[in-house]
Amino acid sequence: MTSAAQQPAYETEVLIVGTGPAGGTMALALAKAGIRTVVINRYGWTCRTPRAHITNPRAMEVFHDLGIIDDVKLYAAPTELMGENVMCQTLAGDEFGRLRTWGNEPGRRCNYAYGTPETNVDLPQNYLENILLGAAAHKGAEVLFHTEFVRFEQDDDGVTSFLRNRLTGAEYSVRSKYLVGTDGARSTVAAQLGLPFKGDMDKLGATNIVFTADLTKYVEHRPSSLYWMFRPDEGPAGIMSGTLRMVRPWTRWLGTTFFDINNPPEIDDAEARRLMHKLIGDDSIPIQIESVALWAFNESWATRFHKGRVFCAGDAVHRHPPLKGLGSNTSVQDSYNLAWKLAHVLKGMASPVLLESYSQERVPVAEEFVPAAFGAMQHYDKVVAALNPTLSEDPAVSAASFEMLKGDNDNLTERRQQLRDAVAATYRTFDCPGIEMNQRYQSCAVAAPADETPPPFAQDPEIYYQPTSFPGARLPHAWLFSGNSRISSLYVCGGGEFTLLTGNSGAGWRAIAKAVSDELGVPIKVVTIGLGQDYQDLYGDYVRISEVEESGALLVRPDVYVGWRARSLGETAQADLRAALASILGRNASGHEFMKSGGVEQPARKFDEMEKAHYA
Ligand SMILES: Cc1cc2nc3c(=O)[nH]c(=O)nc-3n(C[C@H](O)[C@H](O)[C@H](O)COP(=O)(O)OP(=O)(O)OC[C@H]3O[C@@H](n4cnc5c(N)ncnc54)[C@H](O)[C@@H]3O)c2cc1C
Repeated sequence: MTSAAQQPAYETEVLIVGTGPAGGTMALALAKAGIRTVVINRYGWTCRTPRAHITNPRAMEVFHDLGIIDDVKLYAAPTELMGENVMCQTLAGDEFGRLRTWGNEPGRRCNYAYGTPETNVDLPQNYLENILLGAAAHKGAEVLFHTEFVRFEQDDDGVTSFLRNRLTGAEYSVRSKYLVGTDGARSTVAAQLGLPFKGDMDKLGATNIVFTADLTKYVEHRPSSLYWMFRPDEGPAGIMSGTLRMVRPWTRWLGTTFFDINNPPEIDDAEARRLMHKLIGDDSIPIQIESVALWAFNESWATRFHKGRVFCAGDAVHRHPPLKGLGSNTSVQDSYNLAWKLAHVLKGMASPVLLESYSQERVPVAEEFVPAAFGAMQHYDKVVAALNPTLSEDPAVSAASFEMLKGDNDNLTERRQQLRDAVAATYRTFDCPGIEMNQRYQSCAVAAPADETPPPFAQDPEIYYQPTSFPGARLPHAWLFSGNSRISSLYVCGGGEFTLLTGNSGAGWRAIAKAVSDELGVPIKVVTIGLGQDYQDLYGDYVRISEVEESGALLVRPDVYVGWRARSLGETAQADLRAALASILGRNASGHEFMKSGGVEQPARKFDEMEKAHYA
């Protein structure tokens, strides 16, 4: 192995381990930025089972920026087919509650509609991974299957990774400037890196049973991504018997049942069919089992996501149940956060100090999400308690307890209300635009005024998205107009570059941005929003959400988070913009000195030259 380390089989700028949502996003974002990238997967193909499916608006915004939104929409089931979330005894049996979810409840739909140009869609992970990886390969990322990451060694100049070709057994090494471990919940990279973790793994066991069955007659009139079965005839332990999840409407499904993690079941095809028939409640439905897998509910996250030149993203650093649909969506956003930073450092436009901001910004997200997703399970305990208040283990008592609720009996009015309340409260496990979009990063990559704090949340921050342009927040969405078309404020930014947004009386920013851009060698796109400008603010929404004067400006980072803002165009505007950008990029007071100091990974290169070199 030592000789392999001395003579790597090849060199690249970034080696990515894993082709899941995190790895695919990382590969695509880096390849689009012209960074030489190799992405590996120990298996022969991307994931074959549906796993994640709820794709939230923030992830959709990322996919728009990465240029894959059309493919995502082509393969996804739209919001309208996701939201009649059913709670019943069996699919064929009594239904006792229903919830409009994923932006379909009129009150909460407003919050999404004001906050984002996108909607929730249902895109099974096996489709998403192919879209991401296909686009990454198309943009020049090298994709290697049957290639297992074994271990790494890092030094001041780079990382040597030891890989195994699983077809030939051959072992070899690869040298890269950076290594990114997006290798999932059992991450070898995170383990070898010795990242500190909080929480526990393997708290509850669950099955994933993928099958085909035409369930149209039971679901078409109440279209949903999820159907929840509570079988009272099983006693409290089995009362929440499982879920049926639409993979393709209405013929392909993923069934989940639960088991004691210390006592995993043996499930052959016959047993899988029996379990699914139990959830459906109609044994006459023909079922074709495709696959059976066991998985675990975890509650664990890393309190640091990187060390030196090695980074981890996605489930490698946060592991939690699918409630609230945050896993894949968060993994995508980790990578989107890291990719522009790596690209700017590798192109010599930023100091490696910028990379510190990755853990500073994304660890608090994991700290918030993991307990929130795991804690959301308590809402289902309340539904169970309302169905069977004595929590009797006797299936007959449990079943009778449910049957009673259907009667003409005043004394059960309170319990029926308790059930309605419990069902209604489960909305916290679905629509959470707040938790999805309210992040306010505080890091070295945000130039926030020292004497100001982000505005406080006026409503529950987990449920309601509350826009602000305070530095560190995602740029708020406003519809802008150009000719006959409209575009979100989010989509005039991004593309791997910094953008300066200004208004009608902010013409002076154009020359200022050019001067700062020339001096620091960092492209800054300037977009003016106002009457007769690049984009019109016909609804007047942008002026409101920008929270700056017409002559003010927002400096938007490549990941479409506000990096800095100026309330108006003052006399010190150029110095202020320069200082803010240099600070975000981790550069010292003088851009020229920084470039000369050798404090960069590589000399600055023009994007075109890099791209040509890459495709040559
Ligand atoms: C039933 C279920 C439903 C879910 N529903 C949702 C949902 O609706 N919304 C949501 O956002 N999330 C959901 N999730 C969670 C989601 O699936 C994960 O959060 C997501 O897959 C994490 O992506 P990742 O890229 O970090 O890791 P993974 O998808 O786990 O990918 C890891 C990759 O690393 C590769 N790998 C691992 N070790 C090595 C090695 N040593 N060498 C080479 N390659 C390696 C693997 O082959 C794989 O390609 C769900 C999960 C489950 C199980």
